[in-house]
Amino acid sequence: MISFKMPEKIEQSVVIMETIAENMMRPVSRHFDEYEHEIPWDYIEFMHTSQKAMGGGGTLTDSEKKKKEGPSISFQRLAFTSEILSWGDVGMWLCTPGGGLGGAAVNATGTPEQKERFLSNYRGEKPVFDAMALTEPHAGSAMPAEVRTSAVRDGEEWILNGEKIFVTAGNKALVDSDGFVVIWATIDPEAGRAGVRPFVVEAGTPGCSVTKMEHKLGIRSSDTVSILLQDCRIPFDNILGSPEVVKEKTRKGFKGAMATFDATRPLVAASALGIARATLELLKELLQEQGVEIRYGLPRSQMTNIEREIVDMETMLHSTWLLTIKAMWLADERKSNTIEASMCKVKAGDVVVKITQRAVELMGPIGYSREHLLEKWFRDAKINDLYEGTGQINRLIIARRILGYTRHELS
Ligand SMILES: Cc1cc2nc3c(=O)[nH]c(=O)nc-3n(C[C@H](O)[C@H](O)[C@H](O)COP(=O)(O)OP(=O)(O)OC[C@H]3O[C@@H](n4cnc5c(N)ncnc54)[C@H](O)[C@@H]3O)c2cc1C
Repeated sequence: MISFKMPEKIEQSVVIMETIAENMMRPVSRHFDEYEHEIPWDYIEFMHTSQKAMGGGGTLTDSEKKKKEGPSISFQRLAFTSEILSWGDVGMWLCTPGGGLGGAAVNATGTPEQKERFLSNYRGEKPVFDAMALTEPHAGSAMPAEVRTSAVRDGEEWILNGEKIFVTAGNKALVDSDGFVVIWATIDPEAGRAGVRPFVVEAGTPGCSVTKMEHKLGIRSSDTVSILLQDCRIPFDNILGSPEVVKEKTRKGFKGAMATFDATRPLVAASALGIARATLELLKELLQEQGVEIRYGLPRSQMTNIEREIVDMETMLHSTWLLTIKAMWLADERKSNTIEASMCKVKAGDVVVKITQRAVELMGPIGYSREHLLEKWFRDAKINDLYEGTGQINRLIIARRILGYTRHELS
């Protein structure tokens, strides 16, 4: 049964996360926005040490999950973490070591041995990062069908060639730590998305290099890079999933990408809601300083326009959070959550853009000024409607699922 009460085990970590968000992230949030590409090492080291002390990073291997708790709540816990740390600073949250998009891809598509091999690295001496590269210069939304990066088998190795762009945390994974990037490549260019498979490329592998770091509108403390693969040789068993899939002409590659997104889209939604909550709290505080109190409990007709707006924003925020938690609860229950994952991502992308934009408008010059973080949150908001499938693409996924249409029937 889904419960509206926060699981007790999560309650304890929420208090810790709130302390980190308030004391380690907020005070330096402006700094790392202004000094793009400067790495928040204090935060990273702290998170690495405390995750190790608590027995695991963001992404746990299967055996670690079994040891830790009975009924799984790890996806729900991640949603709370994503929301709270994004309330602190979303760019820094994306710099959290041990369990990014690459880890999610390993978890969704790897064998138990591969999960053990690649994810146990998180508990090492130094913080490590991971990333996932699907987008290429010619296509983003059309992925994975349009993957051109190739993987050719050569004995006990794969040779990868191609270019990936806009890879979140790619520099941290490949240059700043001994991490890895999950590269989606085709083993059969004629097969479309059926030929696409995930491959783990570890830091330091010859032929894999970071070629560009983006300068961005928001989430500026998170690095976003281009990666070039030139005759990059990796071990044969770095293909995620059973090597048997190589022989099959199935939709396994596509399913692997979708399983990854089912896990990560609600995390993006939670992150968006963290920014939206931060904005709403500061907006109310600033309004209060100007003598505007929100009188809850009045009939709508007796409220002022600003009161109605704030109450509407809070309703959007809470209802989208419930949808997000439902998507994560389904993931914990090992039930299909594709529709809910896309729905919460769409809603949260809209909600965070609306709330941050309206907050800047309502506060006028104060909202636009760098004196407060409202203008930063406005810039940080939009990415949530772009990566992990744009709002338009997630709407298409929802419609296809509800109406029973294929990709070709509704695109
Ligand atoms: C900061 C940042 C970080 C990123 N991190 C990663 C990452 O870690 N890994 C990764 O692989 N990618 C990453 N991306 C890439 C991101 O996922 C893509 O930008 C996104 O999927 C859109 O693809 P595109 O940019 O090629 O746009 P396009 O696919 O060219 O789309 C352009 C516009 O057309 C719309 N559109 C496209 N097709 C349709 C359709 N059928 N119906 C209606 N509208 C449509 C889109 O919604 C969008 O508004 C990141 C991007 C950014 C900006």
